[in-house]
Amino acid sequence: MRDKKKEIEVFNNKSTVYGPVKSWRLGMSLGIDPIFQTSTCSFNCFYCQLGQIQEITDHIKEYVSTEKLVEDYKNLLKEKPQIDVITFSGSGEPTLAENLDEMIAAIKELSPDIPQYILTNATELHRPEVRKRLQGLDTIIVKIDASNEETFKQINRPAPGVTLERVLKGIRALKKEFKGNIEVQSMFMPLNNKDLDDYIKLMNEIRPSLIQLNTPKRPYPSEWHRENRGNHAKIFDYKVTDLKTLNQDEAKVLEKRLRDETGLEVLSIYR
Ligand code: SF4
Repeated sequence: MRDKKKEIEVFNNKSTVYGPVKSWRLGMSLGIDPIFQTSTCSFNCFYCQLGQIQEITDHIKEYVSTEKLVEDYKNLLKEKPQIDVITFSGSGEPTLAENLDEMIAAIKELSPDIPQYILTNATELHRPEVRKRLQGLDTIIVKIDASNEETFKQINRPAPGVTLERVLKGIRALKKEFKGNIEVQSMFMPLNNKDLDDYIKLMNEIRPSLIQLNTPKRPYPSEWHRENRGNHAKIFDYKVTDLKTLNQDEAKVLEKRLRDETGLEVLSIYR
């Protein structure tokens, strides 16, 4: 049985704005969910905290209105929470939202001093109109878990037509146009740790301003629940599966090799 009382205390399921949740690197991060209705993503990563993605698609449209988001955000501000950063993420891939630029601008107007981030799987960055929608952000964090098409398919389980080549094409184009920071976030596990040489080559080519190393510490839920957008409290009353993570020694080797062989700033969840 789900503990409804506990769930209501921790989560606000009717809002496109969730948290703030304590992020291991960003401080108090307020989540913004431009997808919201169902879990919708151009990936179906086998470690996704949302569980099996309900709509695996790269279709771009308005998923939730900017008006609702602004109303939810204003309501949240009334509680005067501590917000260090705003992060667009939520119930799937945020760049699938056609009105993302409106949302970014509306929040900037209400909170001009709070930096805005996005966590994206980068599958749509090859489209010029999508890159244009992101120009108001401070930092774009792109997900790269694989350095070859085979591992990409195994880990990210993309929508038809989505390839690693397409992802990298989009990131290269973004690098030429975007004035803010571009960071990389990678989920490491035994499956991709074996391709470390190629991953290092890729990082040397992309040269992000930071690499964030993660490992799937949160278990994979059997089903979607909107509260999983920010479920760092690890309250689960439905079936979850633990995933294979890197152990601390493997993570240290990975971190050291990346630093030594790229000279880039690296942050590890095991730090
Ligand atoms: S890209 Fe993010 S939201 Fe999409 S399936 Fe992967 S982890 Fe989940």
